[in-house]
Amino acid sequence: MKKIQALRGMNDLLPAQTPIYQYLEHTVTGVFKQYGYQEIRFPLLEQTALFKRSIGEVTDIVEKEMYTFSDRNDESITLRPEGTASCVRACEQHQLLFNRGNLIQKLWYHGPMFRYEKPQKGRLRQFHQFGVEIFGIGSADIEAEVLMLTARLWALLGIEKHVELQINCLGSSEAREAYKAELVVFLEANKEQLDADSQRRLGSNPLRILDSKDKNTQALLNDAPKLSDYLSDESTAHFAQLQALLDAANIRYVVNPRLVRGLDYYNDTVFEWVTDALGSQGTICAGGRYDSLVNQLGGQPTSAFGFGMGQERLALLVDELNLVPNDWLESLDVYILALGNVATQALLLAEQLRTIHPTLKVQTHCGGGSFKNQMKKADRSGASIALLLGENEAQNNEVTVKYLRDEKPQTTIKQTDLERIF
Ligand code: ATP
Ligand code: MG
Repeated sequence: MKKIQALRGMNDLLPAQTPIYQYLEHTVTGVFKQYGYQEIRFPLLEQTALFKRSIGEVTDIVEKEMYTFSDRNDESITLRPEGTASCVRACEQHQLLFNRGNLIQKLWYHGPMFRYEKPQKGRLRQFHQFGVEIFGIGSADIEAEVLMLTARLWALLGIEKHVELQINCLGSSEAREAYKAELVVFLEANKEQLDADSQRRLGSNPLRILDSKDKNTQALLNDAPKLSDYLSDESTAHFAQLQALLDAANIRYVVNPRLVRGLDYYNDTVFEWVTDALGSQGTICAGGRYDSLVNQLGGQPTSAFGFGMGQERLALLVDELNLVPNDWLESLDVYILALGNVATQALLLAEQLRTIHPTLKVQTHCGGGSFKNQMKKADRSGASIALLLGENEAQNNEVTVKYLRDEKPQTTIKQTDLERIF
């Protein structure tokens, strides 16, 4: 019988990889807390209408990437493809956003997202995002603070030299509509020079054409109308202010006038942190301002800014660059060998060690076996110290310490002196 396999693009994370994910979760959420963010958790499944209404009907996600199906009651439900829509829905449902009280919310989340994409390196059908969303602050300083937060994180992870910040200003939806009309006129006149995907988008989502990777399309776009010429004075000033703040904080960036984003709800500032170390899946963190979304989903007009960060892409990056600290990769510190009829003492000795040193990772050999066999297992376990407990040692309340990774000689000591070796 053919064995059942996992679904395509839905990866198992095996013990060799989970420490990398744990390290990222610890580090990323630690930085979120440093900036005063609180965690929010929302369900994996939502009503399909939530994503259609927020992300936009003609976006890639809604058009072809969502896992949508009917439940047993014939309701259309969708596995969340991103976090922002659910976050806004949850905040509204539980009245976390009161405009009159001018209440600010700074929230973070982490968890799996689902998109039916073509699986490849750094692109999965179930992937994990860290995200933050800030409600109630319309000024550029919160945008700068969020970018400082991400820059601090890259420095902590050691990847700051491998990432570049790109920013752009999309303006208001009115400005974008006016620009879109002019862009379409220009592109229609040069339609035959566009790649097939861009030709398709001309009728549905023309702004996304700016982001085309096709060489001919890119060349054509050099002569196309520029979004920056359509921005209001307010948007232009806001964007200038953000750049001044980034300059003051010494955060390097490039203005990429072609940076649009795949989701409809953004306005004014958008950004991406990109790396060239992961091939075409180069964006590790992306976000922007979305001041109309709360209102669009039924709430009061509320300023909002946020980002999503791909955990798999970060994991690939820190792993390939060998940046995961050994502490996280080593699953064991001490391996206790039980030689002869000493199983009880070995278990108790391990317990004693765990009590004295709660952070020590201790494993006892359970199940017998020869010295050679147990030694092999100790070696493979990654532990730096093996404790040998034979019948003689047990009788004398002693234990033999063998250093597995250092050139130190083995010694036999009293069990009560064990503390000293750590
Ligand atoms: P891309 O252009 O790479 O498809 P996106 O614009 O669709 O990304 P967002 O919706 O902005 O991505 O999600 C934020 C981040 O989540 C991305 O920058 C990326 O790091 C990560 N991400 C998005 N889709 C996937 C995926 N299918 N697999 C792994 N990570 C993903
Ligand atoms: Mg995508």
